[in-house]
Amino acid sequence: MGANLVNLNVNPCKMCMPMGAVNALCGIKSCMSILHGSQGCATYMRRHMATHYNEPVDIASSSLTEEGTVFGGEANLIKGLHNLIELYHPEVIGVGTTCLAETIGEDVGGIIERFYEQNPAVDVKILNIVTPGYGGTQNEGWFATLRAIVEQVEQDRTPHGGVNIVTPMISPADTRWLKRLLTDMGLEYTLLPDISENLDGATEKHYNKLKCEGTSLAQIATMAGARLTIEFSKFTDAHTSPAEYLCEHYGVAYEKLPLPVGIRAMDRLMEVLKGAGGVMTRELEKERGRYLDAMVDSHKYCARARAAIYGEPDFVTAVVRLCAENGVLPALVATGSVTGKLKVLFADELEACREFAFGGETVILDDCDFSVIERHCREQGVNLLIGSSDGRRIAHKMNIPLIRCAFPIHDHVGGQRVRMLGFEGSLNLLDQSANAMLSQVETSFRTELHQQFFVPSPWEAARHSGPAPEPIASEGERRVGSA
Ligand code: SF4
Repeated sequence: MGANLVNLNVNPCKMCMPMGAVNALCGIKSCMSILHGSQGCATYMRRHMATHYNEPVDIASSSLTEEGTVFGGEANLIKGLHNLIELYHPEVIGVGTTCLAETIGEDVGGIIERFYEQNPAVDVKILNIVTPGYGGTQNEGWFATLRAIVEQVEQDRTPHGGVNIVTPMISPADTRWLKRLLTDMGLEYTLLPDISENLDGATEKHYNKLKCEGTSLAQIATMAGARLTIEFSKFTDAHTSPAEYLCEHYGVAYEKLPLPVGIRAMDRLMEVLKGAGGVMTRELEKERGRYLDAMVDSHKYCARARAAIYGEPDFVTAVVRLCAENGVLPALVATGSVTGKLKVLFADELEACREFAFGGETVILDDCDFSVIERHCREQGVNLLIGSSDGRRIAHKMNIPLIRCAFPIHDHVGGQRVRMLGFEGSLNLLDQSANAMLSQVETSFRTELHQQFFVPSPWEAARHSGPAPEPIASEGERRVGSA
């Protein structure tokens, strides 16, 4: 059997497709999402998003029960759509499917059509988004949603000279940085999606149930007239890529770039943006210079690092490139998605890493879980974890640092403010990596030296020859005769 079967008490290195869908829909103006399935799916996603973004998140559910599962859930979904419209007054509703809806073969497109027929006065755009939980990870659900949006929103192909920007899951703070960059470079743009305010909003006197910021339907409708689409993903294809859809149907040229993390990715982005009419600012040049300076400052500390990088494919790609540029050996690269592309993409990077790490090898895993990641971390001598907070148990067991910079982050605040894009975001990640190594040196060098060089005095030797040996001196503890 070719299936990847694991025990149920092992954490996977992924979440399901609807998780990506509801995250992406939070970047659409005045949009509500409803999951066609059992209530637990929506609860699970609300809980994950609320603790990561530290924002209230509403996700509706058609609440399929045994009856709906056996006889079909059309009545539940129709009722859910009515309730949503009445309570939230949205302009857009995204209907995402789940494991249950897909397994019983619900015709969600047909249900939406019948809803419009029965309610001709309803002026709400209802999107049909196919996201079976078992069909992929949150990354595939995110792109399935963006693709459904560009396919189902009627497009106006009038040329306007702006650029489309399509992102994978990035933080609200990184989204704000991206918008500022495009504005500073003097470019008109449509960002798909824009979660910068809806998932990291300011305190308001009156709570607004509906997320009213984000990319509007009117902006999305102009994407067919753009001069260029920049898609920050190396893992989308003809079926999942919004950029490829806009090119095939409306002739919009596209560039697929890695996330702008590290010097090469940022330089490449600058080049493409300048080609699209953007202007490099003096401030950007200074940021670039500061970043180069920081690379020089931190490389000697980074050289100790043997990192395990895990998460969504575009995230790990960006971080591996940053590590390779800065002397960090990516000893383990892991994703929960099923993709053979990682090995191909990293071939040159890892060749360079082998040189600076004196032959250090990299293990690349896809479709993996945290028990496999832990085993390889031990075998590879990993001393730094970079990813979501789901790696915290490995960090605790192995007593190694974890840089939390991917979704989800449950055990720290600030998931919505993680910065890793641009020169400053890259610098943030680089500083954290170098400081993690410095902390390890500062807190372990006495123990290491003691274990390596200490020759016990006769008194110590006699003390240790008894049946119950004493533990080795702890950090900072001064012992007679120690190095
Ligand atoms: S894996 Fe399936 S059942 Fe579980 S939350 Fe996702 S959609 Fe729902």
